[in-house]
Amino acid sequence: MSRLITTKRLASNIFTFKQASRTFCNDASTKLNNVPFETQFNKEDEGVTNDVPQHDIAIVGGGMVGMALACSLASMPLTKHLSIAIIDSNPALTNMPSIKKDDPPDPRVSTVTPATISLFKGIGAWEFVEQHRHAYFDKMQVWDYTGFGFTRYNARDADKDVLGCVVENKVLHKSLLSCLQKKDLKKTIYPARLSSMSLPTRSSVSNGSSKSLANLAKLELTDGTNVYAKLVVGSDGNKSRVRELSGIKTTGWNYSQSAVICTVEHPSENSTAWQRFLPAGPIALLPIGNNFSNIVWTMSPKDASNHKIMNQHDFIKAVNHALDSGHGPRPESRILGGDVIPSFFKPNVTSAVNEGFEIPPKVVKVVSERMAFPLSLMHANDYVAKRVVLIGDAAHTVHPLAGQGVNMGYADVAALSNVIGDGVAVGSDIGEVTLLKKYETERKTANIAMMAVLDGFQKAYSVDFGPLNILRAAAFNGANVFAPLKRNIISYASGERSLPFLS
Ligand SMILES: Cc1cc2nc3c(=O)[nH]c(=O)nc-3n(C[C@H](O)[C@H](O)[C@H](O)COP(=O)(O)OP(=O)(O)OC[C@H]3O[C@@H](n4cnc5c(N)ncnc54)[C@H](O)[C@@H]3O)c2cc1C
Repeated sequence: MSRLITTKRLASNIFTFKQASRTFCNDASTKLNNVPFETQFNKEDEGVTNDVPQHDIAIVGGGMVGMALACSLASMPLTKHLSIAIIDSNPALTNMPSIKKDDPPDPRVSTVTPATISLFKGIGAWEFVEQHRHAYFDKMQVWDYTGFGFTRYNARDADKDVLGCVVENKVLHKSLLSCLQKKDLKKTIYPARLSSMSLPTRSSVSNGSSKSLANLAKLELTDGTNVYAKLVVGSDGNKSRVRELSGIKTTGWNYSQSAVICTVEHPSENSTAWQRFLPAGPIALLPIGNNFSNIVWTMSPKDASNHKIMNQHDFIKAVNHALDSGHGPRPESRILGGDVIPSFFKPNVTSAVNEGFEIPPKVVKVVSERMAFPLSLMHANDYVAKRVVLIGDAAHTVHPLAGQGVNMGYADVAALSNVIGDGVAVGSDIGEVTLLKKYETERKTANIAMMAVLDGFQKAYSVDFGPLNILRAAAFNGANVFAPLKRNIISYASGERSLPFLS
Protein backbone atom coordinates (compact mmCIF):
# COMPACT_ATOMS: atom_id res chain seq x y z
CA MET A 1 0.00 0.00 0.00
CA SER A 2 1.04 3.49 -0.63
CA ARG A 3 2.55 5.16 2.35
CA LEU A 4 3.16 8.85 2.58
CA ILE A 5 6.66 9.91 3.32
CA THR A 6 7.21 12.17 6.27
CA THR A 7 10.37 13.95 7.16
CA LYS A 8 11.96 15.84 9.97
CA ARG A 9 14.90 17.11 7.97
CA LEU A 10 12.60 18.89 5.58
CA ALA A 11 11.33 21.12 8.30
CA SER A 12 14.75 22.64 8.78
CA ASN A 13 15.56 22.90 5.09
CA ILE A 14 12.36 24.24 3.70
CA PHE A 15 11.21 27.75 4.25
CA THR A 16 7.68 27.86 5.50
CA PHE A 17 5.64 30.75 4.20
CA LYS A 18 3.17 31.82 6.84
CA GLN A 19 -0.08 33.61 6.39
CA ALA A 20 -2.01 35.21 9.19
CA SER A 21 -5.12 33.11 8.84
CA ARG A 22 -3.84 29.92 7.27
CA THR A 23 -0.61 28.24 6.32
CA PHE A 24 0.46 29.23 2.85
CA CYS A 25 3.16 26.65 2.61
CA ASN A 26 2.44 23.80 4.93
CA ASP A 27 5.13 22.21 7.03
CA ALA A 28 6.82 19.29 5.40
CA SER A 29 4.70 16.52 6.80
CA THR A 30 1.43 18.29 6.10
CA LYS A 31 2.71 19.13 2.68
CA LEU A 32 3.53 15.59 1.84
CA ASN A 33 0.16 14.49 3.12
CA ASN A 34 -1.24 16.53 0.28
CA VAL A 35 0.93 15.01 -2.43
CA PRO A 36 -1.30 13.77 -5.23
CA PHE A 37 -1.68 10.07 -5.74
CA GLU A 38 0.69 9.82 -8.70
CA THR A 39 3.60 11.15 -6.65
CA GLN A 40 3.07 8.99 -3.62
CA PHE A 41 5.68 6.32 -3.34
CA ASN A 42 5.65 2.81 -2.06
CA LYS A 43 8.29 2.35 0.58
CA GLU A 44 9.14 -0.87 -1.19
CA ASP A 45 9.90 1.01 -4.41
CA GLU A 46 13.53 0.95 -5.33
CA GLY A 47 15.50 3.98 -4.20
CA VAL A 48 12.88 5.39 -1.85
CA THR A 49 14.19 6.76 1.39
CA ASN A 50 12.32 8.19 4.30
CA ASP A 51 13.39 11.78 4.03
CA VAL A 52 13.33 12.83 0.40
CA PRO A 53 11.13 15.65 -0.81
CA GLN A 54 9.20 14.74 -3.95
CA HIS A 55 7.13 17.06 -6.07
CA ASP A 56 5.16 16.95 -9.25
CA ILE A 57 6.96 20.05 -10.53
CA ALA A 58 10.17 21.79 -9.43
CA ILE A 59 10.33 25.37 -10.69
CA VAL A 60 14.01 26.36 -10.65
CA GLY A 61 14.10 30.18 -10.68
CA GLY A 62 11.37 32.15 -8.93
CA GLY A 63 11.83 35.33 -10.98
CA MET A 64 9.07 37.13 -12.86
CA VAL A 65 8.49 34.17 -15.19
CA GLY A 66 8.87 31.28 -12.73
CA MET A 67 6.46 32.89 -10.25
CA ALA A 68 3.94 33.48 -13.04
CA LEU A 69 4.02 29.77 -13.82
CA ALA A 70 3.39 28.89 -10.16
CA CYS A 71 0.42 31.31 -10.11
CA SER A 72 -0.92 30.05 -13.38
CA LEU A 73 -0.78 26.39 -12.23
CA ALA A 74 -2.44 27.44 -8.95
CA SER A 75 -5.30 29.07 -10.80
CA MET A 76 -6.23 26.18 -13.11
CA PRO A 77 -8.64 23.54 -11.76
CA LEU A 78 -6.70 20.76 -13.51
CA THR A 79 -3.33 21.72 -12.03
CA LYS A 80 -3.98 23.40 -8.71
CA HIS A 81 -3.65 20.11 -6.81
CA LEU A 82 -0.10 19.57 -8.07
CA SER A 83 2.76 19.63 -5.61
CA ILE A 84 5.12 22.44 -6.60
CA ALA A 85 8.65 23.23 -5.42
CA ILE A 86 10.00 26.71 -6.08
CA ILE A 87 13.79 26.84 -5.85
CA ASP A 88 15.49 30.25 -5.67
CA SER A 89 17.77 31.94 -3.16
CA ASN A 90 16.29 35.40 -3.92
CA PRO A 91 15.32 36.72 -0.44
CA ALA A 92 12.22 38.42 -1.93
CA LEU A 93 10.59 34.99 -2.10
CA THR A 94 10.82 34.44 1.61
CA ASN A 95 10.65 38.03 2.90
CA MET A 96 8.13 39.80 0.78
CA PRO A 97 9.59 43.29 0.19
CA SER A 98 7.47 46.32 1.00
CA ILE A 99 7.07 48.77 -1.84
CA LYS A 100 6.35 52.38 -0.98
CA LYS A 101 4.35 54.31 -3.53
CA ASP A 102 6.19 57.53 -2.66
CA ASP A 103 9.66 56.16 -3.47
CA PRO A 104 10.93 57.08 -6.94
CA PRO A 105 10.38 54.22 -9.40
CA ASP A 106 13.04 51.54 -9.64
CA PRO A 107 14.92 51.71 -12.97
CA ARG A 108 14.21 48.03 -13.73
CA VAL A 109 10.83 48.15 -15.46
CA SER A 110 9.00 46.11 -18.09
CA THR A 111 6.59 47.26 -20.74
CA VAL A 112 3.89 44.63 -20.55
CA THR A 113 1.63 43.93 -23.49
CA PRO A 114 -2.17 43.56 -23.48
CA ALA A 115 -1.66 39.77 -23.80
CA THR A 116 0.43 39.78 -20.60
CA ILE A 117 -2.14 41.96 -18.83
CA SER A 118 -4.82 39.40 -19.80
CA LEU A 119 -2.69 36.56 -18.42
CA PHE A 120 -2.19 38.46 -15.13
CA LYS A 121 -5.91 39.19 -14.92
CA GLY A 122 -6.73 35.55 -15.63
CA ILE A 123 -4.50 34.25 -12.84
CA GLY A 124 -5.60 36.97 -10.40
CA ALA A 125 -2.31 38.92 -10.23
CA TRP A 126 -3.28 42.17 -12.02
CA GLU A 127 -5.34 43.44 -9.09
CA PHE A 128 -2.08 43.52 -7.08
CA VAL A 129 -0.22 45.37 -9.86
CA GLU A 130 -2.98 47.99 -9.79
CA GLN A 131 -2.33 48.58 -6.07
CA HIS A 132 1.16 49.83 -6.97
CA ARG A 133 2.59 52.30 -9.41
CA HIS A 134 1.99 51.41 -13.06
CA ALA A 135 1.46 53.49 -16.19
CA TYR A 136 -0.80 52.51 -19.06
CA PHE A 137 0.03 54.21 -22.34
CA ASP A 138 -2.12 54.56 -25.42
CA LYS A 139 0.32 56.36 -27.71
CA MET A 140 3.77 55.60 -29.00
CA GLN A 141 6.05 57.59 -31.28
CA VAL A 142 9.00 55.97 -33.06
CA TRP A 143 11.44 57.88 -35.26
CA ASP A 144 15.09 58.00 -36.21
CA TYR A 145 17.93 60.48 -36.27
CA THR A 146 17.92 60.99 -40.07
CA GLY A 147 14.79 63.15 -39.86
CA PHE A 148 13.21 61.29 -42.80
CA GLY A 149 10.21 59.74 -41.11
CA PHE A 150 8.32 58.79 -37.99
CA THR A 151 5.44 56.57 -36.88
CA ARG A 152 2.82 57.39 -34.28
CA TYR A 153 0.86 54.47 -32.91
CA ASN A 154 -2.43 55.11 -31.20
CA ALA A 155 -4.37 52.38 -29.39
CA ARG A 156 -7.53 53.43 -31.19
CA ASP A 157 -5.91 52.51 -34.54
CA ALA A 158 -6.39 48.91 -33.43
CA ASP A 159 -9.66 49.49 -31.52
CA LYS A 160 -7.87 49.17 -28.20
CA ASP A 161 -7.84 51.17 -25.00
CA VAL A 162 -4.11 50.81 -24.35
CA LEU A 163 -0.97 49.75 -26.17
CA GLY A 164 0.65 48.49 -22.97
CA CYS A 165 1.57 49.27 -19.41
CA VAL A 166 4.94 50.08 -17.85
CA VAL A 167 5.45 48.37 -14.48
CA GLU A 168 8.48 48.09 -12.21
CA ASN A 169 9.86 44.53 -12.25
CA LYS A 170 9.68 44.40 -8.44
CA VAL A 171 5.96 45.25 -8.65
CA LEU A 172 5.31 42.47 -11.18
CA HIS A 173 7.24 40.03 -8.98
CA LYS A 174 5.59 41.08 -5.74
CA SER A 175 2.14 40.94 -7.34
CA LEU A 176 2.75 37.35 -8.39
CA LEU A 177 3.92 36.48 -4.86
CA SER A 178 0.83 38.15 -3.35
CA CYS A 179 -1.39 36.33 -5.79
CA LEU A 180 0.24 32.98 -4.98
CA GLN A 181 -0.21 33.59 -1.28
CA LYS A 182 -3.95 33.72 -1.81
CA LYS A 183 -4.08 30.44 -3.73
CA ASP A 184 -4.54 26.95 -2.52
CA LEU A 185 -1.49 25.49 -4.25
CA LYS A 186 0.60 22.84 -2.51
CA LYS A 187 3.87 24.64 -2.73
CA THR A 188 7.23 24.59 -1.00
CA ILE A 189 9.84 27.30 -1.35
CA TYR A 190 13.46 26.17 -1.14
CA PRO A 191 15.65 29.24 -0.47
CA ALA A 192 18.69 27.80 -2.25
CA ARG A 193 20.09 27.43 -5.74
CA LEU A 194 20.27 24.42 -7.99
CA SER A 195 23.82 23.08 -8.02
CA SER A 196 23.46 19.80 -9.88
CA MET A 197 20.81 17.59 -11.37
CA SER A 198 20.53 13.98 -12.50
CA LEU A 199 17.93 12.95 -14.99
CA PRO A 200 16.61 9.42 -15.44
CA THR A 201 18.48 7.34 -17.97
CA ARG A 202 17.04 4.36 -19.78
CA SER A 203 18.96 1.96 -17.57
CA SER A 204 17.98 3.67 -14.30
CA VAL A 205 14.32 3.53 -15.36
CA SER A 206 14.41 -0.08 -16.52
CA ASN A 207 15.96 -1.11 -13.20
CA GLY A 208 13.14 0.36 -11.14
CA SER A 209 9.37 0.52 -11.26
CA SER A 210 7.76 3.52 -12.96
CA LYS A 211 6.98 5.06 -9.60
CA SER A 212 10.47 4.81 -8.17
CA LEU A 213 12.78 7.73 -7.56
CA ALA A 214 14.97 6.42 -10.38
CA ASN A 215 12.34 7.61 -12.83
CA LEU A 216 12.35 11.16 -11.46
CA ALA A 217 14.71 14.12 -11.85
CA LYS A 218 16.95 14.54 -8.82
CA LEU A 219 17.95 18.10 -7.94
CA GLU A 220 20.83 18.86 -5.60
CA LEU A 221 20.60 22.27 -3.98
CA THR A 222 23.35 24.49 -2.63
CA ASP A 223 22.16 23.97 0.97
CA GLY A 224 22.59 20.21 0.63
CA THR A 225 18.90 19.38 0.14
CA ASN A 226 17.95 16.83 -2.52
CA VAL A 227 14.60 17.26 -4.23
CA TYR A 228 12.91 14.86 -6.65
CA ALA A 229 10.42 15.93 -9.29
CA LYS A 230 8.50 14.56 -12.23
CA LEU A 231 9.08 17.76 -14.14
CA VAL A 232 11.83 20.37 -13.72
CA VAL A 233 11.01 23.80 -15.12
CA GLY A 234 14.08 25.90 -15.89
CA SER A 235 13.01 29.51 -15.34
CA ASP A 236 16.45 30.42 -14.06
CA GLY A 237 17.26 33.13 -16.56
CA ASN A 238 19.76 33.70 -19.30
CA LYS A 239 22.59 31.70 -17.66
CA SER A 240 20.25 28.81 -16.84
CA ARG A 241 21.85 26.04 -14.80
CA VAL A 242 18.93 23.75 -15.67
CA ARG A 243 19.64 24.26 -19.38
CA GLU A 244 23.34 23.61 -18.86
CA LEU A 245 22.81 20.50 -16.72
CA SER A 246 20.32 19.09 -19.25
CA GLY A 247 22.92 19.43 -22.01
CA ILE A 248 20.69 21.73 -24.07
CA LYS A 249 22.80 23.80 -26.45
CA THR A 250 22.11 27.40 -27.45
CA THR A 251 22.52 29.62 -30.50
CA GLY A 252 23.19 33.34 -30.22
CA TRP A 253 25.56 36.26 -30.20
CA ASN A 254 26.48 39.36 -28.24
CA TYR A 255 25.38 42.66 -29.73
CA SER A 256 28.45 44.64 -28.59
CA GLN A 257 25.90 46.99 -27.09
CA SER A 258 24.79 47.74 -23.53
CA ALA A 259 21.60 49.31 -22.28
CA VAL A 260 21.83 52.12 -19.74
CA ILE A 261 18.67 52.40 -17.67
CA CYS A 262 17.47 54.91 -15.06
CA THR A 263 14.40 56.81 -13.86
CA VAL A 264 14.09 60.45 -14.87
CA GLU A 265 11.76 63.29 -14.03
CA HIS A 266 10.20 65.88 -16.35
CA PRO A 267 8.02 68.94 -15.63
CA SER A 268 4.67 67.37 -16.57
CA GLU A 269 3.09 63.92 -16.76
CA ASN A 270 4.00 61.73 -19.73
CA SER A 271 1.58 59.16 -21.17
CA THR A 272 3.36 58.34 -24.44
CA ALA A 273 6.09 55.76 -25.05
CA TRP A 274 8.86 57.41 -27.09
CA GLN A 275 11.63 55.70 -29.01
CA ARG A 276 14.26 57.33 -31.17
CA PHE A 277 16.77 55.28 -33.16
CA LEU A 278 20.30 56.71 -33.04
CA PRO A 279 23.43 55.49 -34.87
CA ALA A 280 24.62 53.52 -31.82
CA GLY A 281 21.18 52.15 -30.85
CA PRO A 282 17.73 53.30 -29.72
CA ILE A 283 16.83 55.46 -26.73
CA ALA A 284 13.39 54.96 -25.18
CA LEU A 285 11.51 57.20 -22.74
CA LEU A 286 8.74 55.15 -21.15
CA PRO A 287 6.07 56.60 -18.85
CA ILE A 288 6.07 55.19 -15.31
CA GLY A 289 3.52 57.46 -13.65
CA ASN A 290 3.36 61.04 -12.35
CA ASN A 291 6.20 63.09 -13.80
CA PHE A 292 8.53 60.09 -14.01
CA SER A 293 9.74 58.14 -17.02
CA ASN A 294 12.16 55.30 -17.53
CA ILE A 295 15.13 55.58 -19.88
CA VAL A 296 16.44 52.55 -21.79
CA TRP A 297 19.37 53.76 -23.87
CA THR A 298 21.36 51.37 -26.04
CA MET A 299 24.98 52.28 -26.83
CA SER A 300 28.46 50.76 -27.04
CA PRO A 301 29.69 49.13 -23.80
CA LYS A 302 32.40 51.81 -23.50
CA ASP A 303 29.88 54.65 -23.84
CA ALA A 304 27.60 52.86 -21.38
CA SER A 305 30.36 52.82 -18.77
CA ASN A 306 30.93 56.55 -19.33
CA HIS A 307 27.23 57.42 -19.21
CA LYS A 308 26.86 55.47 -15.97
CA ILE A 309 29.38 57.59 -14.15
CA MET A 310 29.20 61.02 -15.83
CA ASN A 311 27.83 63.83 -13.67
CA GLN A 312 24.07 64.29 -13.56
CA HIS A 313 24.10 67.62 -15.45
CA ASP A 314 26.05 66.15 -18.40
CA PHE A 315 23.90 63.01 -18.42
CA ILE A 316 20.65 65.00 -18.59
CA LYS A 317 22.09 67.11 -21.39
CA ALA A 318 23.08 63.95 -23.28
CA VAL A 319 19.62 62.39 -22.80
CA ASN A 320 17.79 65.48 -24.07
CA HIS A 321 20.19 65.69 -27.00
CA ALA A 322 19.58 62.03 -27.84
CA LEU A 323 15.79 62.36 -27.55
CA ASP A 324 15.49 65.49 -29.64
CA SER A 325 17.77 67.13 -32.17
CA GLY A 326 21.10 65.41 -31.48
CA HIS A 327 22.63 63.45 -34.42
CA GLY A 328 20.10 64.81 -36.95
CA PRO A 329 17.01 66.95 -37.54
CA ARG A 330 13.48 66.34 -36.25
CA PRO A 331 11.25 64.73 -38.88
CA GLU A 332 8.85 66.92 -40.81
CA SER A 333 5.44 66.83 -39.21
CA ARG A 334 3.64 65.29 -42.20
CA ILE A 335 6.02 63.85 -44.76
CA LEU A 336 3.26 61.75 -46.31
CA GLY A 337 0.29 63.94 -45.43
CA GLY A 338 -3.20 63.07 -46.58
CA ASP A 339 -2.87 65.25 -49.68
CA VAL A 340 -0.17 63.15 -51.30
CA ILE A 341 -1.78 59.76 -50.72
CA PRO A 342 -3.41 58.32 -53.86
CA SER A 343 -7.20 58.27 -53.53
CA PHE A 344 -7.48 54.44 -53.77
CA PHE A 345 -5.43 54.15 -50.56
CA LYS A 346 -7.46 56.71 -48.64
CA PRO A 347 -9.96 54.30 -47.00
CA ASN A 348 -7.00 52.50 -45.44
CA VAL A 349 -5.32 55.57 -44.05
CA THR A 350 -4.88 55.71 -40.25
CA SER A 351 -6.08 58.52 -38.02
CA ALA A 352 -2.45 59.16 -37.03
CA VAL A 353 -1.73 60.51 -40.49
CA ASN A 354 -3.30 63.73 -39.23
CA GLU A 355 -1.20 63.69 -36.05
CA GLY A 356 2.01 65.62 -36.32
CA PHE A 357 5.39 64.67 -34.96
CA GLU A 358 5.67 65.56 -31.28
CA ILE A 359 8.74 66.51 -29.30
CA PRO A 360 9.23 64.29 -26.23
CA PRO A 361 9.22 65.87 -22.76
CA LYS A 362 12.46 67.46 -21.57
CA VAL A 363 14.22 65.55 -18.82
CA VAL A 364 15.12 67.73 -15.82
CA LYS A 365 16.38 65.28 -13.20
CA VAL A 366 17.69 61.72 -12.77
CA VAL A 367 16.05 60.17 -9.69
CA SER A 368 17.52 56.67 -9.58
CA GLU A 369 20.88 55.00 -9.93
CA ARG A 370 22.04 54.39 -13.50
CA MET A 371 22.57 50.75 -14.41
CA ALA A 372 24.08 49.13 -17.52
CA PHE A 373 23.28 45.67 -18.97
CA PRO A 374 25.22 43.98 -21.78
CA LEU A 375 22.85 42.90 -24.57
CA SER A 376 22.75 39.59 -26.39
CA LEU A 377 20.52 37.27 -28.33
CA MET A 378 20.29 33.67 -27.14
CA HIS A 379 17.98 30.85 -28.13
CA ALA A 380 17.96 27.34 -26.69
CA ASN A 381 18.11 24.75 -29.49
CA ASP A 382 15.60 22.64 -27.55
CA TYR A 383 13.07 23.73 -24.95
CA VAL A 384 12.48 20.23 -23.59
CA ALA A 385 14.31 17.10 -22.53
CA LYS A 386 12.99 14.17 -20.52
CA ARG A 387 11.60 15.67 -17.29
CA VAL A 388 12.92 19.15 -18.21
CA VAL A 389 11.34 22.18 -19.83
CA LEU A 390 12.71 25.72 -20.28
CA ILE A 391 10.71 28.94 -20.10
CA GLY A 392 11.48 32.68 -20.13
CA ASP A 393 15.04 33.92 -20.48
CA ALA A 394 16.34 30.41 -19.89
CA ALA A 395 14.92 29.55 -23.34
CA HIS A 396 15.39 32.88 -25.13
CA THR A 397 16.99 36.26 -24.50
CA VAL A 398 16.30 39.19 -26.81
CA HIS A 399 17.33 42.80 -27.36
CA PRO A 400 15.14 45.08 -25.22
CA LEU A 401 14.41 47.48 -28.11
CA ALA A 402 10.76 46.47 -28.37
CA GLY A 403 10.22 45.52 -24.71
CA GLN A 404 9.23 41.94 -25.57
CA GLY A 405 11.55 39.74 -23.43
CA VAL A 406 9.44 39.04 -20.39
CA ASN A 407 6.26 39.12 -22.47
CA MET A 408 7.63 36.18 -24.46
CA GLY A 409 8.28 34.44 -21.12
CA TYR A 410 4.69 35.06 -20.02
CA ALA A 411 3.42 33.61 -23.30
CA ASP A 412 5.57 30.52 -22.52
CA VAL A 413 3.86 30.34 -19.12
CA ALA A 414 0.37 30.38 -20.66
CA ALA A 415 1.29 27.69 -23.21
CA LEU A 416 3.09 25.42 -20.72
CA SER A 417 0.28 25.64 -18.15
CA ASN A 418 -2.21 24.50 -20.79
CA VAL A 419 -0.01 21.61 -21.90
CA ILE A 420 0.49 20.46 -18.28
CA GLY A 421 -3.27 20.77 -17.72
CA ASP A 422 -3.95 18.69 -20.84
CA GLY A 423 -1.50 16.06 -19.61
CA VAL A 424 -3.12 15.89 -16.17
CA ALA A 425 -6.58 15.63 -17.79
CA VAL A 426 -5.67 12.47 -19.66
CA GLY A 427 -3.46 11.01 -16.94
CA SER A 428 -0.16 11.43 -18.83
CA ASP A 429 3.20 11.64 -17.14
CA ILE A 430 3.80 15.42 -17.10
CA GLY A 431 7.55 14.94 -17.52
CA GLU A 432 7.23 12.99 -20.78
CA VAL A 433 8.94 14.51 -23.80
CA THR A 434 6.01 13.71 -26.12
CA LEU A 435 3.69 15.84 -24.00
CA LEU A 436 6.22 18.66 -23.49
CA LYS A 437 6.97 18.81 -27.22
CA LYS A 438 3.50 20.30 -27.73
CA TYR A 439 4.64 23.28 -25.68
CA GLU A 440 7.94 23.47 -27.56
CA THR A 441 6.29 23.38 -30.98
CA GLU A 442 3.91 26.19 -30.09
CA ARG A 443 6.38 28.50 -28.41
CA LYS A 444 9.48 27.89 -30.54
CA THR A 445 7.72 29.03 -33.70
CA ALA A 446 6.41 32.19 -32.05
CA ASN A 447 9.66 33.00 -30.24
CA ILE A 448 11.85 32.49 -33.31
CA ALA A 449 9.57 34.77 -35.34
CA MET A 450 9.76 37.48 -32.67
CA MET A 451 13.54 37.09 -32.36
CA ALA A 452 13.95 37.42 -36.13
CA VAL A 453 11.90 40.64 -36.13
CA LEU A 454 13.83 42.15 -33.20
CA ASP A 455 17.21 41.11 -34.56
CA GLY A 456 16.24 42.52 -37.97
CA PHE A 457 15.36 45.86 -36.36
CA GLN A 458 18.60 45.89 -34.40
CA LYS A 459 20.61 45.28 -37.59
CA ALA A 460 18.62 47.65 -39.81
CA TYR A 461 19.22 50.49 -37.37
CA SER A 462 22.90 49.75 -36.83
CA VAL A 463 23.80 50.90 -40.34
CA ASP A 464 24.07 54.52 -41.44
CA PHE A 465 23.91 54.19 -45.23
CA GLY A 466 21.99 56.58 -47.53
CA PRO A 467 19.75 54.12 -49.46
CA LEU A 468 19.01 52.13 -46.31
CA ASN A 469 18.09 55.33 -44.48
CA ILE A 470 15.53 56.10 -47.22
CA LEU A 471 14.14 52.56 -47.01
CA ARG A 472 13.76 52.89 -43.22
CA ALA A 473 12.02 56.22 -43.68
CA ALA A 474 9.64 54.62 -46.19
CA ALA A 475 8.94 51.86 -43.67
CA PHE A 476 8.23 54.41 -40.91
CA ASN A 477 5.92 56.39 -43.15
CA GLY A 478 4.18 53.30 -44.53
CA ALA A 479 3.53 52.06 -40.99
CA ASN A 480 2.31 55.51 -39.99
CA VAL A 481 -0.15 55.89 -42.83
CA PHE A 482 -1.65 52.53 -43.78
CA ALA A 483 -4.23 51.23 -41.34
CA PRO A 484 -4.06 47.45 -42.03
CA LEU A 485 -0.26 47.45 -41.66
CA LYS A 486 -0.45 49.51 -38.48
CA ARG A 487 -3.20 47.29 -37.03
CA ASN A 488 -1.08 44.22 -37.75
CA ILE A 489 2.00 45.75 -36.12
CA ILE A 490 0.03 46.78 -33.01
CA SER A 491 -1.65 43.42 -32.75
CA TYR A 492 1.67 41.55 -33.12
CA ALA A 493 3.45 43.77 -30.59
CA SER A 494 0.48 43.36 -28.22
CA GLY A 495 1.08 39.62 -28.15
CA GLU A 496 -2.23 38.81 -29.83
CA ARG A 497 -0.80 37.05 -32.83
CA SER A 498 2.17 34.77 -32.78
CA LEU A 499 3.37 35.37 -36.34
CA PRO A 500 4.16 38.84 -37.65
CA PHE A 501 2.19 40.69 -40.27
CA LEU A 502 -0.15 37.83 -41.27
CA SER A 503 -3.81 38.72 -41.40
C1 LIG B 1 17.67 46.78 -20.02
C2 LIG B 1 16.55 45.77 -20.16
C3 LIG B 1 15.26 46.21 -20.36
C4 LIG B 1 14.21 45.31 -20.51
N1 LIG B 1 12.94 45.76 -20.74
C5 LIG B 1 11.94 44.88 -20.96
C6 LIG B 1 10.60 45.33 -21.24
O1 LIG B 1 10.32 46.52 -21.27
N2 LIG B 1 9.65 44.39 -21.50
C7 LIG B 1 9.93 43.06 -21.51
O2 LIG B 1 9.05 42.26 -21.80
N3 LIG B 1 11.18 42.61 -21.20
C8 LIG B 1 12.18 43.47 -20.94
N4 LIG B 1 13.44 43.02 -20.65
C9 LIG B 1 13.67 41.56 -20.54
C10 LIG B 1 13.26 41.02 -19.17
O3 LIG B 1 13.88 41.76 -18.14
C11 LIG B 1 13.61 39.55 -19.07
O4 LIG B 1 13.04 38.88 -20.17
C12 LIG B 1 13.08 38.95 -17.77
O5 LIG B 1 13.73 39.51 -16.65
C13 LIG B 1 13.29 37.43 -17.74
O6 LIG B 1 12.67 36.91 -16.60
P1 LIG B 1 12.99 35.41 -16.12
O7 LIG B 1 12.15 35.20 -14.91
O8 LIG B 1 12.89 34.47 -17.27
O9 LIG B 1 14.53 35.43 -15.74
P2 LIG B 1 15.28 36.28 -14.58
O10 LIG B 1 14.63 37.60 -14.37
O11 LIG B 1 16.73 36.28 -14.97
O12 LIG B 1 15.06 35.40 -13.28
C14 LIG B 1 15.76 34.21 -13.08
C15 LIG B 1 15.57 33.77 -11.63
O13 LIG B 1 16.25 32.51 -11.49
C16 LIG B 1 17.01 32.52 -10.30
N5 LIG B 1 18.15 31.60 -10.52
C17 LIG B 1 19.20 31.75 -11.35
N6 LIG B 1 20.02 30.68 -11.26
C18 LIG B 1 19.47 29.84 -10.36
C19 LIG B 1 19.84 28.56 -9.82
N7 LIG B 1 20.97 27.92 -10.21
N8 LIG B 1 19.03 27.98 -8.90
C20 LIG B 1 17.87 28.59 -8.50
N9 LIG B 1 17.47 29.80 -8.97
C21 LIG B 1 18.26 30.41 -9.88
C22 LIG B 1 17.43 33.98 -10.09
O14 LIG B 1 17.67 34.25 -8.72
C23 LIG B 1 16.18 34.72 -10.60
O15 LIG B 1 15.24 34.94 -9.58
C24 LIG B 1 14.49 43.91 -20.48
C25 LIG B 1 15.79 43.45 -20.26
C26 LIG B 1 16.82 44.38 -20.10
C27 LIG B 1 18.23 43.88 -19.88
